[in-house]
Amino acid sequence: MLTLQFYNTLTRKKEQFTPIAPPEVSMYSCGPTVYNYAHIGNLRTYVFMDELRRTLKFAGYNTKSVMNITDVGHLVSDADDGEDKMQTAAKKQNKTPEEIAAYYSEVFFKDLKRLNILTPEIVAKATDNIDEMIEFVKVLCEKGYGYETDDGIYFDISKFDGYGKLSRCNIEDALAGARVAINTQKRHPADFALWKKAEKNHIMQWRSPWGMGYPGWHIECSAMSRKFLGSTFDIHTGGVDHIPIHHENEIAQSEALEGHKVVNLWMHGEFMLVDGGKMSKSLGNVYTIDDLMARGYSPLAFRYFCLNTHYRNKLNFTFDGLSGAATAYNRLRSAVAACETADKADADTAKKVKKQFDAIVAAVCDDLNYPLALGEMWTMSKLPACREIFDAAKELDRLFGLELYAPLEAKSEETIPDEVKQLADRRFAARLNKDWATSDALRVELDKLGYAVLDGKSGYELKKK
Ligand code: AMP
Ligand code: ZN
Repeated sequence: MLTLQFYNTLTRKKEQFTPIAPPEVSMYSCGPTVYNYAHIGNLRTYVFMDELRRTLKFAGYNTKSVMNITDVGHLVSDADDGEDKMQTAAKKQNKTPEEIAAYYSEVFFKDLKRLNILTPEIVAKATDNIDEMIEFVKVLCEKGYGYETDDGIYFDISKFDGYGKLSRCNIEDALAGARVAINTQKRHPADFALWKKAEKNHIMQWRSPWGMGYPGWHIECSAMSRKFLGSTFDIHTGGVDHIPIHHENEIAQSEALEGHKVVNLWMHGEFMLVDGGKMSKSLGNVYTIDDLMARGYSPLAFRYFCLNTHYRNKLNFTFDGLSGAATAYNRLRSAVAACETADKADADTAKKVKKQFDAIVAAVCDDLNYPLALGEMWTMSKLPACREIFDAAKELDRLFGLELYAPLEAKSEETIPDEVKQLADRRFAARLNKDWATSDALRVELDKLGYAVLDGKSGYELKKK
């Protein structure tokens, strides 16, 4: 097992990584709220999750990774009021929340696949785990952390000693920062909803000890991480925006329930900016992978663009920047792929290739320094062309996921018609949703078109028959 160092948001230090039960590493990543397309900022955070998982696997660990799909409970306002984002989208598009969730989940997994982001071992939908959430809230109430008001069950943050330890804010800061409570029955303005009681016209609601209702957003992650990973686990990831509220609340809920520390290592990906500022619909700068592809950029050029900035630094997206990354990526890939047919290296070059290989591995093991690793890969690509470079790049693709070994023109995927790819993506999404009937029906359709699907752990492969 290779030695790994990661920066822990909780301690603000780089620490040597020691998992609880090696060779397994248990890990939870906050997933998307599937009411809209994932934008390139969201996807940067999943590229970071992927860099981490690939590094752990390369280092010799077996990852047990959970990613949630939030399909209920994420309200328009973080202050526990406003409509559920899923319900708003459903009404706007005249669909059911389930249809909205199925559609955007499918597109999300297609984006992950295009970016060579390995699918986590466990993908958990919030609506499949409501019982566990209710049970969690019940225990918090029994332990005196939860209390009931007319509109829901709330967590009393003053009862939890460590509140604010992740973002290093104290309760007074949290109280001052919270919006003036609309719900005057809350004990403190920063108390947050564990469970909301549903109005009659609320579309998604479940029976609970407190009447019909639906879970709060934060409880989803606490309940699902506990269900799949147990009462302590190794790593929790997300974007930096989640540190002050969502993850602070997760810590409060989970530690209040367990009575001890639950997550050993908190890792957060910095934000992506666009043209130096925030992405926003009003500025028209919220881009998806499809938008980039429509402008002629490949998803893997975007992956290269992400890898080239350390996950703890802000990444400013501009089309000029992406264009530069795409040129660099194509050059590197062409140089490496050309080595497939090159002769074996002389002893001196072989030694240098090995040195670069080791430098790349050392870089990623040091808090995922992928920008340095890419720099070392460039140095390797400039050595006299030899078969060893190709072999090293193939092995190192387990880390990079950039397919540097494959000639640019010869991606097998590109020869598969769009119609077939779309059917296969729909089938994969159906499988993830355990919708076996749809999945089987789509397999038959693909079969008729002359394609067989081979399912793997982290995706599928299409084979022309
Ligand atoms: P959401 O679907 O809004 O819960 O966001 C999904 C993930 O994307 C979360 O981990 C967020 O922290 C992350 N995220 C949101 N906006 C950005 C951004 N501009 N840059 C990087 N990550 C982001
Ligand atoms: Zn979460």
